[in-house]
Amino acid sequence: MGAGDGRTEAIMREIASLRAQRDELDSRIRFFEFQLRAGGAAPTTLPPSLSTKLDAMGVHAAAAGGGLSPDMVRRYSRHLLLPDFGVQGQRRLSRSSVLVVGAGGLGSAVALYLAACGVGSLGIADGENVELSNLHGQIIHVEAYVGQPKVKSAASACRAINSSIKVFEHHLKLKSKNALDVVRQYDIIVDATSSPASRYMLNDCCVLLQKPLISGSTIGLEGQLTVYNHNGSPCYRCLFPNPAACQSGSDNGILGVVPGVIGCLQALEAIKVATRIGEPLRGRMIHFDALSSRFKTVKKIHQRSSTCMVCGDHPNLTKDELMMFDYDSFAESSNSSKPAPSLNPLPSNAQITCREYKRLLDSGRPHLLLDVRPVHHFQIASIANSVNIPLHELREKLPRLRDALSEVAGVSRGRHRPLYFICQRGDDSQVAVHILRENGFPYASDVIGGLESWAREVDPGFPVYW
Ligand SMILES: [Zn+2]
Repeated sequence: MGAGDGRTEAIMREIASLRAQRDELDSRIRFFEFQLRAGGAAPTTLPPSLSTKLDAMGVHAAAAGGGLSPDMVRRYSRHLLLPDFGVQGQRRLSRSSVLVVGAGGLGSAVALYLAACGVGSLGIADGENVELSNLHGQIIHVEAYVGQPKVKSAASACRAINSSIKVFEHHLKLKSKNALDVVRQYDIIVDATSSPASRYMLNDCCVLLQKPLISGSTIGLEGQLTVYNHNGSPCYRCLFPNPAACQSGSDNGILGVVPGVIGCLQALEAIKVATRIGEPLRGRMIHFDALSSRFKTVKKIHQRSSTCMVCGDHPNLTKDELMMFDYDSFAESSNSSKPAPSLNPLPSNAQITCREYKRLLDSGRPHLLLDVRPVHHFQIASIANSVNIPLHELREKLPRLRDALSEVAGVSRGRHRPLYFICQRGDDSQVAVHILRENGFPYASDVIGGLESWAREVDPGFPVYW
């Protein structure tokens, strides 16, 4: 990819020309195979000389069903009736191979539609197992598969819809060392993952192997979609050279239908790229806002960047280097550049383990447990009698809190600390203790490890929502 734009376009044209020739040959092979299956010679009524002349004009005697089997004609009749899609579109689709990376919310919609539509070979890659919390939005999975590999569940659903296609299961998390081997087996790659590290890795694989990448992502109630690295469109790194500018949806809530919407659009783009119909979403990006039900198309996203490290004029990532590249560290190191509260260590007497807090709770000694998670987290699950003050509201509520605390402190001073902070993982609660100490209230303690430790070590029945 060190070549200039002119050379790239020439190569693209050559590839398009070769693909057209391949299609033509495939079409003729399919025609003659059909004749063989039908028994005997081609039942042409044309004189050989006329047949040759028609061939030279690119006009061929029609094969029954346009070269599609009777079953295919029946199954895909609604596709075939579309003038812009027709037999040629279905044939191209049946010869295409698509890899869907991620069998979650996005991947559910993509894989189901691609299977139903008749993509020839469908690969599904995912290393996780189905969990109960997946079922609200990952509609390809059913309760019977909870605890089993997602690829097994997803492949089973795809085969149940369409037994005439090939479905390949890749039960693994794609990583630097194995991604190229999997990606190179397919024509089109669909990124249905949710982590920045995976996005960069898939992007780099697709650039180095010259594959189009259908990229979709969702955060909360929003989603976006584009086609990278297709006929001169930019790659993911051209737009996001620095991971700090992108976000991961994995730690956030998600309304199940939102990835369904984006996943359907990814399937549509994959079909358009595979069949070469319409205008794929390359060089443009769709943003979807579920709350306002608005789609916005950014008509000109960044052009391909000449300084891009994988698709630029002087790329500096080879396949061997990709296999050694630590994408997790790359994504995390950049994320660490985001502003975050610096945590000075708390003194040991300002921290308490979950088990110690449980003993205090059981003792009945007066104290206050403040939960500093966001309100909507607190409403999902909380420890009995804890009080919710989200961390970002703590400073403004300090004056009123001080009054309440002095009452509790008056009862317990000298015997134990009257105030404890808890959050989900034990980070924000430490910040809260620091805030209290800075504001003249030294008797606050952090519950180490937060509710995740509480659920693990003290109360296995605590509702786990993370
Ligand atoms: Zn690039």
